This record gives sequence, C-alpha cells and structure tokens, in this order.
Amino acid sequence: MLFAIIENSNNKPILNEPFGQTKEGKSVEIYTLENSCGMKARITNYGGIVVSLTAPDKNGNMADVALGCDNLNGYIESSPYFGCIVGRYGNRIGNAKFTLNGQEYILAKNDGENNLHGGDVGFNKAIWEAKPVDENLEGPALELTYLSKDGEEGFPGNLNVKVIYTLTHKNELKIDYFAATDKDTVVNLTHHSYFNLAGQGEGDVLGHEATINADKFTPVDEGSIPTGEIRDVEGTPFDFRTAKTFGKDVNADDEQLKFVGGYDHNWVLNQEEPGKMVLATSAYEPNTGRYMEAYTTEPAIQVYIGNFLDGTITGKEGKVYKRRYGFCMEPQHYPDTPNKPDFPSCVLKPGKEYKTTTIYKFSTK
Ligand code: BGC
Repeated sequence: MLFAIIENSNNKPILNEPFGQTKEGKSVEIYTLENSCGMKARITNYGGIVVSLTAPDKNGNMADVALGCDNLNGYIESSPYFGCIVGRYGNRIGNAKFTLNGQEYILAKNDGENNLHGGDVGFNKAIWEAKPVDENLEGPALELTYLSKDGEEGFPGNLNVKVIYTLTHKNELKIDYFAATDKDTVVNLTHHSYFNLAGQGEGDVLGHEATINADKFTPVDEGSIPTGEIRDVEGTPFDFRTAKTFGKDVNADDEQLKFVGGYDHNWVLNQEEPGKMVLATSAYEPNTGRYMEAYTTEPAIQVYIGNFLDGTITGKEGKVYKRRYGFCMEPQHYPDTPNKPDFPSCVLKPGKEYKTTTIYKFSTK
C-alpha cells in the first residue's frame, strides 16, 4: 500500500510492506523511504531497525552500507543490535542497578554482571507504531512511537518515546528522538547501525579512515564499565582528531584495547555548549570514495568496530559477518551515567521533553 504524499513536496511515497510476524503472532511492517537522489532506507517497526541503507560511491553506484538480516526472524533470534533504536538506556549500567531519588532499581543482567542496551527486551525488540510524517520538506520521514510502561525492564516511569527517521534530499539519515515521562527516570536513546562503506559484507572496516572530534574518552574496566576517569586521547591509540584508519593502532599494546577487544569506547565530544550539534565522527572508505559524517546534539559517542562479530551470523544476501565487518557510531550520554554523578545527567523528569538529534550524512571524496 502507498501512503499519499503532500503537494509541493519532492518526496516519493513511502512504500509499506509486510515484514513477517513475531512469535506472538504480531504483524510487523517494513517501510521504504527514497529520496530525490535515489538513496533508500528500509526501516521496520520491529525495533525501529534500519534494515538497509543505500549510498552512492564516487561513480554513483549504490550499495547497501548497513549490516543486517534477511528477514524478521534473523532480527528476533540472532541480531547483535543491527540497525536498531537502543533504549531505554543505551550502553551499559554497572552491576545492573542504579539509585534514583533514594530508591534502588534492579535491572536485567544481560551482559555479564551488567545491564546492556535496555535489558532483555529493550526498545530494539519493541513493536513501534509507525506512520509517515506529512509535510516534511527535508525528505520522506517515518514517525515511530512506543510507550515503555512504568517498570518495564525495571525502569521507573511510563515513557512515551517518539523517533522520527528522515531520509533527506541531501543524503542524510536524520534521527530525531523525543521522550516524556510521568516519573523521574533515566533515558539514553541511540542508534545502532553497523556501517561498512565498502558495502555490507564486503570485508572488515580496518581500512576505513576515521575521525572522532574528541580530546577525551572514558576508560573502562574489564566489564566495559567506565572507571569514572575522563582521559586525554593525546598520545594514546584513542586519538582520532586527525584521520587515521581504524586498523592503524587497534592492535597497539594498550590495556584499554585489550580489555574490550579493540575500539569499543565512549568519546567525550568537543562541544561548544551542551546540546549544540557538532560533527562528532567521520569515516572514509578509500576504494569506493564513500564518506560518512555523524553529527549529533549528544555529549558523547560510543564507537564500536564490531569486535564481537565472529562469522557465526550470516546476514543479508548470504554475507557472513566476520570480526570487524562493521562499525557503529552511537551518539549518546556516557555509559553507566545513572551510577556516575559526575557525568552529564541522563535523568528525565515529568514536564521536561527529552530531545536529541543525530544525522548520518553520506557523500563521496
Ligand atoms: C557495545 C558493544 C556491544 C554491542 C552489542 C555496542 O554498542 O559498545 O560492547 O557488544 O553494542 O552488539
């Protein structure tokens, strides 16, 4: 079925097709957004997952640059958070608990002793209400909403969440996040696409040249929980202020890299003022010329280079995803903030609107 488009808009209609059924028998849809440059994003309302995303190379050839599964069942059974919306609290919460206003909240231990990406059934497994956004001149846009009930996965407060994906006519995937609560809670929403600018399944990402606009990062312990220190990147393998390949220093003799098997850390972005959008990171793939920039209003970004992919997942088009076949650039608040009073707060109170924006912009060089 095709949704009507508004007059005066360049937008192609958003195509809506069935994507299968969950084990509980709920139907899930997939939506295709196409911009005026022919770039396409296919997004399902299961987990708000970007199932595929095409981008042109330097010769104008399109390729799918996001890892993922061929069908819904793949996402349900064996996806390491491919392309999804992560919440209620993206990244880790140490010992799977935190205290807010004097009350302790116990969460699922789904990552060793810790809570990861919202718990056993995070927002990546939720079925979202989806509808096209009318009158969006930037490009076709899909609105996803979800009510995370008070107590879901142990978090306090009914949280109304809205995420708008826009595929702009400037070849950007723009993601606007909104949330409101009826009780004090903690919120940290992010996006978890694994990108490979050579094309999904086309080798590892170690030859991608990356920048990260950060003078500092948050070192972690062996369980990937920040120690609380905020360390200068200067003189460490974590200095990406000037472009270098992910592969250049990834095997350096460095405790931080050894603890978590490579880059899988939170960088503190150089931001003029809190909430002001900055260019956070970039990645360039020299053979295809594809270049991606990530802009965000968030104070930090987790950069993860797929260290835990191990060839056991066969993804789209039969491609086997081996170690470091994709990189994630996940703008967010710092990991374990609910237990780290010195980190920028992730507490959301009733009457306040949570609003953040991230833009992944694609071009060529
Ligand atoms: C984390 C990794 C984790 C991965 C799960 C990333 O956001 O930083 O440590 O393994 O998500 O797929």
